[in-house]
Order: sequence, then structure tokens, then C-alpha cells
Amino acid sequence: MKFYSTNNKNKFYSLREAVVKGLPEDKGLFMPAYFPPLENKFLDDANGLSFSETSLHTAKTLLGDSIGEPVLERIIRDAFDFDLPLKQITDNIYVLELFHGPTLAFKDFGARFMAGLMEHYVQDSARKLTILVATSGDTGGAVANAFYGKEGIEVIILYPEGKVSGLQEKQLTTYGRNITALKVSGTFDDCQRLVKAAFNDQTVAAKWWLSSANSINIARLIPQSFYYVYGWSRLASSGKKTVFSVPSGNFGNLTAGLFAWKMGVPVSRFVASTNVNDIVPQYLISGNYRPKPSMQTLSNAMDVGDPSNFARLQDIFKGDVSAMTDTISGFACNDRMTSNAIKEVSSRYGYLPDPHGAVAFLGLQDYLEKNKRDINGIFLETAHPAKFAETVEKITGTRIVLPEPLARLENQTGNSVPMSTSFDDFKAFLMSCTS
Ligand SMILES: *Cc1c(COP(=O)(O)O)cnc(C)c1O
Repeated sequence: MKFYSTNNKNKFYSLREAVVKGLPEDKGLFMPAYFPPLENKFLDDANGLSFSETSLHTAKTLLGDSIGEPVLERIIRDAFDFDLPLKQITDNIYVLELFHGPTLAFKDFGARFMAGLMEHYVQDSARKLTILVATSGDTGGAVANAFYGKEGIEVIILYPEGKVSGLQEKQLTTYGRNITALKVSGTFDDCQRLVKAAFNDQTVAAKWWLSSANSINIARLIPQSFYYVYGWSRLASSGKKTVFSVPSGNFGNLTAGLFAWKMGVPVSRFVASTNVNDIVPQYLISGNYRPKPSMQTLSNAMDVGDPSNFARLQDIFKGDVSAMTDTISGFACNDRMTSNAIKEVSSRYGYLPDPHGAVAFLGLQDYLEKNKRDINGIFLETAHPAKFAETVEKITGTRIVLPEPLARLENQTGNSVPMSTSFDDFKAFLMSCTS
């Protein structure tokens, strides 16, 4: 498989280049040159396959000419060593729980697969690859976990001191070994500025082989398409249509669903469920893309005012909004609706969603009410409710027990290096580290 940039479809990159570079020079986003179809036989039999088997087949179909099957098999086995349950909520509503990975959020799927691929690509290299990440909380935890112990890769995480939750800080600072956490005496924007400045600095670039492992790396999207194939296949024998409701912020998750659809998984519709940061639902109505400053909500991982994967959505539908609305419906809700949904889904159906899953539930319910045909709806649960315990406990009045991976962290002490917001200090730190 070759990859092009959404800004230039005439230049192609190998999988290795796309993954290690992260972003093309022209500031577009990498896309697969085409979507090879999954064979009918595979789709017919998919409901009998495990998630690993489904993933391996899908990965092989898309990437098999770039990377060998034994390597893909090992990466998938190591990356997805956790459960992926589909649970029934009502007669036509199901939830696909994507939060059983080590950091209890769906970002584990992308981060762990990308880490496996990067480790594979650096193994023959004499140089170490250093990954710089700025995080406002969750992404850094998933990246730290995914790269922990990976050979030939160092990770440096910058986070704003005092501005991430105690548990999030532990998720960044308790690894050690090849993971270094810097607590920056500033904001998330300062962290991001320092990372950008490092990439643009000649002396740093000469000493280090840098990569960003950022959220728009194509290696994070591809594995997210696997769980759509799997989720669809669990209900395929019902003979009903399948609709996915995707709680969306930067729209990586929804784009990955479209990858599966382009490869032939017969998903009849995607619901782009957002909070009041409703740029894409508005675009689907008006055909105008109007980014705006993000607003803070209960589902804060989706507080995005200019979704970074919008260029990929445009690319898939060739900029045609009516083609997009044939496949994607928009839905947006405010915090009051989210909070009511958490209360109602837990009291009526005995299922406790997190704020992001609650938004997706509402988007699905809205679609199913307006389209009473033979449809199975699946909403994606992207985080364990314990990750948002304070919010969820206030709404339901019931304590949430911390699941094991988080509970274990509570008694550990982390380790981080204090850092000012000045690039000179950050540069001095980088230059003093042995590579
Ligand atoms: C990142 C995140 C989202 C949004 O996913 P996108 O791919 O950015 O649309 C939704 N829920 C949770 C819990 C997240 O961490």
C-alpha cells in the first residue's frame, strides 16, 4: 500500500515513511492510495472470528503488500491483548466497549498498534527514534503505555504542571525506562510550542531522529477500522442494517469507520455524535465548514473546534457534502442532555455510560427514532466511566469503583523533570540527554 497526502495525490509514500514521518511536508494528512475490498467469503464468515483474527485479515488486506503477515500478527497480538465486548442495551441498541485497554480509553487501539509498527521500522536502524509528545492528559497516557519498553524508541512527554488530573499525571510519570515525563510550568499550548520548536531547530534535528506519534498518524487510524469490522460482524446474521454512532472530536474514530466501510463492510450509516462543538453536524446541514474556538463540556475529549481529520473526511467524499450526508448523519447535544442520558441509561437499562458514550447513545437514539426500519444500532463507548468519575458520580449519586489498572496507580509515586516554558531550557535538556 502506498499513501498520498490530502494536499497532493500525485506523490506517494511507503507505509514506513507515512508512519515514521507522521505528517507529509505539505501539511496535509496521509491517506491510503486506495481501499482494497474485503472478500465476500471473509465477510460471510466474520462472525465466527475473534477480534485478533478479524484484525489480522483486515490489516493484511490493506497493508499486506507493505509488511509481512508474521509481523502484522505479532503487532496485533501484542497490541490488542484485552477484551472487546458488544453488549445489548435495548432490542435494537448495542454498545461496543472500546475501553478495556490498559489506559481505559479507545486511544489504546491506535497508540498500541502504532507503537508496534514503529518498533518494527526502527529495529534495523543504528539510531534511536525519539518521540516528542505534548499532552493535555489522555493522549500522553496512551502513548506512554504503548511505547513502554519498545526497543530503539525513547519517548519524551511534555504536560502542563497542575493542569492534568492526579490520575492522569500518574499515567504519564510512573513508567520510567524509555519514557521521560517533563512537567512544564505553563499551559498545554506552551508544551505544544516547545515540541514544535524542537522539530524546527537545526541543532536538535541534527542530533536526534524525531517523530511525533501524534493523533493524526495514519498508523493510529488503521487499527481503529478493525473494531468496526468486528462490531458489525457480531450482528451480521440478524439480517438487519447496522448503524454506528461515534462520539466525535477530531473525527479520527469516525474516519476509521469509513475506512472499514470503503473496504466493503456494509454499514448503512454513521452518526457523527458531538457535544456543542458541532462543527461537522453544522457542515452536514449547511455545506459550510466553519471552525470556531472550542467550548468546554462534560465530554471534554471531544471539545474540538477545528477537527484535525476533517481533511480526510473531505478526501473520502471528494469534497461533496451531499455524498457525505448519504452516509453520515450529524447529531449534537448540550451538557444537560448528556447528563440526563447518563442518568437515564443507567437507571432504565442498568448500563452506566461515560459522558462520551452518553453523547453517542443520544445520537443513536435520535437516529433510530427518525428511522424506524430494521436497524441494529451500535454506539461506541470510548472511555471507562471511572475516567470521569467525578462528573459521573455527581450525576448518578453512586460511587464508581476504580478498575484495576487505575486502582494500582493510586499507590505509586511518579517521576517527572521540571521544565520552564523557555525553549532554550528545553533544548539544553534535549542536548544533554545521551542519544
Ligand atoms: C479522543 C476521544 C474521543 C474523540 O475521538 P476522535 O477520534 O478525536 O473523534 C471520544 N471519546 C474519548 C473518551 C476520547 O478520548
